[in-house]
Amino acid sequence: MLWSGWGDPARAAELPAPVRELLTELLGVRPPAAPAATFGEVRLPPAALPPAVLAALAAVTGEEHVRADDDARIRHTRGKSTPDLLLMRAGDASDAPDAVVLPGSHEEVVEVLRLCAEHRVAVVPFGGGTSVVGGLTPARRGYAGVVALDLGRLDRLRSVDPVSMTADLEPGLRAPQAERLLAGHGLTLGHFPQSYEYATLGGFAAARSSGQASAGYGRFDDMVVGMTVATPRGTLEIGRAPKSAAGPDLRQVFLGSEGAFGVITSLRLRVHRAPAVRAYEGWRFETFAAGTAALRRLAQEGAPPTVLRLSDETETMVGLAKPTDLGTPGGDSGCLVVAGFEGAPGDVAHRREHAAALLVEAGGVHLGPEPGEKWAQGRFSAPYLRDSLLAAGATVETLETACFWADLPRLYDAVRLALHGALGSPLVMCHISHVYATGASLYFTVVTAQTGDPLAQWAAAKRAAGEAIVGAGGTISHHHGVGRDHLEAYAAEIGDLGGEILRGIKERLDPAGILNPGVLIPVY
Ligand SMILES: Cc1cc2nc3c(=O)[nH]c(=O)nc-3n(C[C@H](O)[C@H](O)[C@H](O)COP(=O)(O)OP(=O)(O)OC[C@H]3O[C@@H](n4cnc5c(N)ncnc54)[C@H](O)[C@@H]3O)c2cc1C
Repeated sequence: MLWSGWGDPARAAELPAPVRELLTELLGVRPPAAPAATFGEVRLPPAALPPAVLAALAAVTGEEHVRADDDARIRHTRGKSTPDLLLMRAGDASDAPDAVVLPGSHEEVVEVLRLCAEHRVAVVPFGGGTSVVGGLTPARRGYAGVVALDLGRLDRLRSVDPVSMTADLEPGLRAPQAERLLAGHGLTLGHFPQSYEYATLGGFAAARSSGQASAGYGRFDDMVVGMTVATPRGTLEIGRAPKSAAGPDLRQVFLGSEGAFGVITSLRLRVHRAPAVRAYEGWRFETFAAGTAALRRLAQEGAPPTVLRLSDETETMVGLAKPTDLGTPGGDSGCLVVAGFEGAPGDVAHRREHAAALLVEAGGVHLGPEPGEKWAQGRFSAPYLRDSLLAAGATVETLETACFWADLPRLYDAVRLALHGALGSPLVMCHISHVYATGASLYFTVVTAQTGDPLAQWAAAKRAAGEAIVGAGGTISHHHGVGRDHLEAYAAEIGDLGGEILRGIKERLDPAGILNPGVLIPVY
């Protein structure tokens, strides 16, 4: 993973010429005043952990699995939000952990937590490092140091239960690794977020991830039927049946807990048969409102597609819905729906027919397979473009929310208005990214010319958008999580008593407060 950006540096994306023109002419983007820092120019604080603590950690995991070198520290600094990337591009690694520890088993995780609690060392569980909400940037004050607990060595498929259709997998598995292992058994998880190439199963559970095929396979939190969690107070094994009436479901305490309550060391996940057929296609609607009404009907009237998304007029025109066509002159008009169907041939045929009848009735025009296939080809390429846009002098970031269908038009307008108010004349694109019977998620992409202080520029825009979301009845996050960036809005969303419940759980499981301090838990 590129330390200051996204993905494999060999796959860096050039900005197409029409996009460069669009940036200059429409948004007034100019090259940044200073070039991005090189790896050698990154400024790191001295490592703070006492040698005795490092030695004790090494005694648990083996010396080669405790790293305090610059390379390891820089690569475990923060996550991959645009502010995170802007700081790294400026050579600022002031949030670097003092050491990176790579445990090889659940027992080693338990022992590392015990040691860190004893020495008051903060522990940041680290999966793929793709958090976009400050979930990997703990508060350091009051701690003897910070350790990034990289779960990458916990990367096994432990077992498959083909009768129950579940699999036990370790949290450090990246999504493609997990899919490869399951493919050996003819199975799939069906979880394909845009961060698919790098994010891990543990991170998906800890941040309640949602993938591009969630309409069909469900969100990641729907897939978790059991888990093992290491906490400073000991181990929890949760989930002995698919559903239970034995009190509140403790799985829900750890789903979305972002490393603040414990470290997930194993997951029992629902799996599906690998689909025999995949068919993606495009539909066009005249307006976003008409497309929204059609998606709502699809979500409410049964048998929805596996992938279902609707781009608004701006996103469709710019071509972001089909990244391979980005900026193509004379781009599409109207609003593009991508519908993808995966499964057994009969099931796919039935759902396609049902969807087609409904979409035609709702005013949709069938565009054939091409837009859907192009979307599928380019589905993981947008994060690479972000690096090129930042280098060209644009500020580009995404934000997401969800609400009930009845509130959706108001929420859409409110967020767009807030972003325009905060940024002048940005390009604001949006798509409905996930649908449910009762509501949907809106995903916004914003591009604007960088000011001299792009961090402050984005902070103001993000604040305005957050206030608009709260005011219009949306949640501060549908799938990115809380981290530190959404803490204030989350505190308002759950209220004082909600915050107290979280603090109560935290105090019981983590009395020394070493787990990801400053993340998730509202403090009054
Ligand atoms: C370009 C890009 C695209 C993205 N697209 C999507 C998307 O489509 N859908 C989506 O849902 N999200 C998306 N994200 C956000 C991010 O990928 C998800 O939040 C993902 O779930 C994080 O997984 P990770 O393994 O990288 O976790 P990390 O970023 O390493 O960690 C995330 C949080 O979980 C905690 N954590 C990690 N592992 C564990 C564990 N084993 N036990 C306890 N706590 C743990 C961490 O401490 C941190 O607070 C995107 C991010 C980027 C940068």
